[in-house]
Amino acid sequence: MASMQILCACTSSSHVQQQGSIRYRYGYPSEKMNGRRCSVRVEGGNGMVVPSSEEEKRKLRVLVAGGGIGGLVFALAAKHKGYAVKVFEKDLSAVRGEGRNRGPIQLLSNALAVLEAIDQSVAWQIMEAGCVTANRTNGLADGLSGEWFGEFDLLTPASRKRLPLTLVICRMTLQDILVNAVGPNILRNKSKVVDFIQEPSKVRVILENGEQHDGDILIGADGIWSEVRSKLFGRQEANYSGFTCYSGLTSYVPPYIDTIGYRVFLGMNQYFVATDVGHGKMQWYAFHAEPPSNYPFLEGIFTLCYVEFGFYVKFFVLSFY
Ligand SMILES: Cc1cc2nc3c(=O)[nH]c(=O)nc-3n(C[C@H](O)[C@H](O)[C@H](O)COP(=O)(O)OP(=O)(O)OC[C@H]3O[C@@H](n4cnc5c(N)ncnc54)[C@H](O)[C@@H]3O)c2cc1C
Repeated sequence: MASMQILCACTSSSHVQQQGSIRYRYGYPSEKMNGRRCSVRVEGGNGMVVPSSEEEKRKLRVLVAGGGIGGLVFALAAKHKGYAVKVFEKDLSAVRGEGRNRGPIQLLSNALAVLEAIDQSVAWQIMEAGCVTANRTNGLADGLSGEWFGEFDLLTPASRKRLPLTLVICRMTLQDILVNAVGPNILRNKSKVVDFIQEPSKVRVILENGEQHDGDILIGADGIWSEVRSKLFGRQEANYSGFTCYSGLTSYVPPYIDTIGYRVFLGMNQYFVATDVGHGKMQWYAFHAEPPSNYPFLEGIFTLCYVEFGFYVKFFVLSFY
């Protein structure tokens, strides 16, 4: 197995672009990173494998159930390793956990470094599109007085290890970047995996539309209600944590935008988070201790889902614009 050292120059500098009321940040802080290089060791890597026609015949056939973040990033890595990859996604338009207008996701330094090692171009597109929060104060505050209890220093460890800075990005943007990088030859939309059959020399995936695909391995990346996992290990229900999360996204730039990225206001059996998500928008979400509900209410405004860390989530998308 080939291994390589990826050296990538980190020369981008931190800056703020102002377009009307929109503030948009990206890049590394120039005083920390300018002119330095970061080094990530990976096995294989982008562009490593250029198979001949003989090798083409021997390509490992990798089938992936689920085109969420996990399935797409895995597919990208497997594609760059030169494997013959097929991703089956039941519905690309249903990016989970975001409500109708699609909410943001925080990508930590280590996740960005992994993406950089897998595909530098993809990582840089994400960094361009994202909003860096690590270069401001982030942490826990008293829910009543707003006084800081503790701060999360995301900047020093990342800078010390020369990792990209934690940022927030719209899930749809992230998905678009990954979908484009994986490519239409690999990703098949409207392809729900309903079953698979393991044979001594192959695995056969069966789709809802009747299609069957053979591969050497099958990756179950089909989320918290994974069909693949259920078939392999038996169906297991997730446990409700006792907290429901309400989330809102709005066009608003608070006066403290230059100094605070992400603040958690703590209360008794509840907490509230306000985070800059870039492009002149703030995301607010609140965890509240309450009994579980089993159905989405106010269909179209709220959506309900059960997330992997065990919260019921109701997303309330506020439109103030
Ligand atoms: C509200 C919320 C906020 C979060 N915030 C963050 C954050 O800030 N930072 C962070 O790192 N993580 C965050 N997470 C966690 C993160 O979203 C998940 O870890 C991540 O999405 C998991 O990716 P996945 O690809 O494994 O699963 P999923 O995102 O669930 O993707 C699974 C995919 O498989 C598809 N699928 C399902 N069944 C089938 C089938 N039978 N056949 C074909 N396709 C199928 C689904 O349509 C879906 O596209 C958050 C999660 C939630 C819910």
